[in-house]
Amino acid sequence: MTVTDNEPRSVLVTGGNRGIGRAIAGAFLAQGDRVAVTSRSGGGPEGSLDLVCDITDAAAVDEAFSRIEEEHGPVEVLVANAGVTADTLLLRMSEEDWSRVIDTNLTGSFRLAKRASKGMLRLRRGRIVFISSVVGLLGSAGQVNYAASKAGLVGMARSLTRELGSRSITANVVAPGFVDTDMTAVLTDEQKDTIKQQVPLQRYGTPEEIAAAVLWLTGEHGGYVTGAVIPVDGGLGMGH
Ligand code: NDP
Repeated sequence: MTVTDNEPRSVLVTGGNRGIGRAIAGAFLAQGDRVAVTSRSGGGPEGSLDLVCDITDAAAVDEAFSRIEEEHGPVEVLVANAGVTADTLLLRMSEEDWSRVIDTNLTGSFRLAKRASKGMLRLRRGRIVFISSVVGLLGSAGQVNYAASKAGLVGMARSLTRELGSRSITANVVAPGFVDTDMTAVLTDEQKDTIKQQVPLQRYGTPEEIAAAVLWLTGEHGGYVTGAVIPVDGGLGMGH
């Protein structure tokens, strides 16, 4: 049996209350899955199981999974999407800026994958998707912490692929380019124009375009794809 079979699945999208995560959650809801979303402030899309869970807290992650298991059954699809930035140049970057970003983006994803894998191993199937970034592969001045956290997800996904593959569990990375969300709203119009000029498609991506890649990877047609890094970046990072 594959993870799909077109039966509704228990899906968890972290950071599902806004931006890219909200679009991903909405796409799973639209295809009839049982979708849980987590965030620190709540407010997930209608029809989702909306849970408050800070992914820097392992006990809170465990509690959220227990709630999802009660309401929707074991998580079959995990989309580790929640992420933060704390941008500044290396010499100005504090230990706190470094640790907060690593703890959320990388260690948070580790906590989620570890907890999700328990149920997936029992089910003998599962799909894990980490939302990384083009920046994890290209690097970015002022984002040493963020780029390191996003690059780390690639090594994690590929190690999970080797550990869990024999149980029909896939682990992949989606690496978005620039997408219009709260995260990029802090950029000035001038910075946005400069970025657009570097993107072969000359525009930002939409949250829905990221969601489409996640749906493919976790759906019937993505069943033989694992340990992959799928860029959805308008060509910005090609070759990496
Ligand atoms: P947003 O800033 O719009 O959303 C971030 C999400 O993460 C929110 O739902 C937020 O919810 C949640 N979150 C942050 N910290 C925590 C935490 N400690 N525990 C639980 N939830 C948390 O970002 P985007 O939608 O733009 O980004 C989503 C993902 O895509 C991120 O991993 C980002 O790095 C990645 N990405 C984004 C790009 C872009 O251009 N926008 C480009 C490449 C990658 P709350 O604040 O309520 O906790």
